[in-house]
Amino acid sequence: MSERKLRIIKDFLGSYYKVNDEYLFYCPKCKHHRKKLSLNFDKNVFKCWVCDYIGKDISWLVRFHGSPENKSQWNSLVGIVDFSEIDNIKEIVDISLPEEFISLTDIIINPLSIPARQYLKSRGLTRDDIVWWKMGYCPDGDYKQRIIIPSFNMKGNLNYFIARSYTSGEWQKYKNPPAEKDFIFNDLYLDWDKDITIVEGIFDAIVAGNAIPLLGSTLRENSYIFQKIVDKCGKIYIALDSDAEAKEDKISKLLLSYGVDIYRVDSSGFGDVGEMDKEAFQARKKTAAFVSLDNYLWEKLSF
Ligand SMILES: [Zn+2]
Repeated sequence: MSERKLRIIKDFLGSYYKVNDEYLFYCPKCKHHRKKLSLNFDKNVFKCWVCDYIGKDISWLVRFHGSPENKSQWNSLVGIVDFSEIDNIKEIVDISLPEEFISLTDIIINPLSIPARQYLKSRGLTRDDIVWWKMGYCPDGDYKQRIIIPSFNMKGNLNYFIARSYTSGEWQKYKNPPAEKDFIFNDLYLDWDKDITIVEGIFDAIVAGNAIPLLGSTLRENSYIFQKIVDKCGKIYIALDSDAEAKEDKISKLLLSYGVDIYRVDSSGFGDVGEMDKEAFQARKKTAAFVSLDNYLWEKLSF
């Protein structure tokens, strides 16, 4: 395995020499005239002795300095899904909206829809939000008295929906259909060229805008969401519930180790992002804390 990895690295970093377990290459960051970038394949770490360019995963070098061909060779070697293929994976979708679904985007207001509209209004949602998210509701059926928010994949096909109760007496707030959870809610609407925020739930995503709700999961390294973030984002904002610090730490560390810069949005004073209004969130976002590799990774590296 190391030999094959070495061959890929050599293809973009050039020649090397070996001292004990370490392979020394020219550093692509400071471009020092001597071979000062040390790679240790057993520990899967690298470090430049001149400029302190460091990382706890050699994949990171490939991601930033390798050619597209290097990346795909590397990915097939270490078992990461080829990033260019990921949009084609989750295409087996067998889901449809409930039969009783009625859109809330109509101009003419059905009196039956008033409680649903009142609920959304009480959460600070506007008509623009309803239209953007293509919201509806069910007056009857399995999803009786629930707001329905559909999710569309990159091809514009429905791949999930959220069903949130709008009556106060309902013990089960969410009753979502069973589905493969490894997808990005409304992938279709995300603008990957703009700031993206990771949030907990759909109502947080509505407030944050251009956000990925985790929908009760965490971010796993082998998931579609994670791989797409690593592939598309140089930086990302994280705004989880104020009591979810441990989860936020874990996600931050994981993304940092893949070279994604992290900005943490402080949600203290609010239970979650969904309780803020959009202006309050944007103000918090402006003062988001940059989390650096230095804080998180120094102690993890052992040379
Ligand atoms: Zn260097």
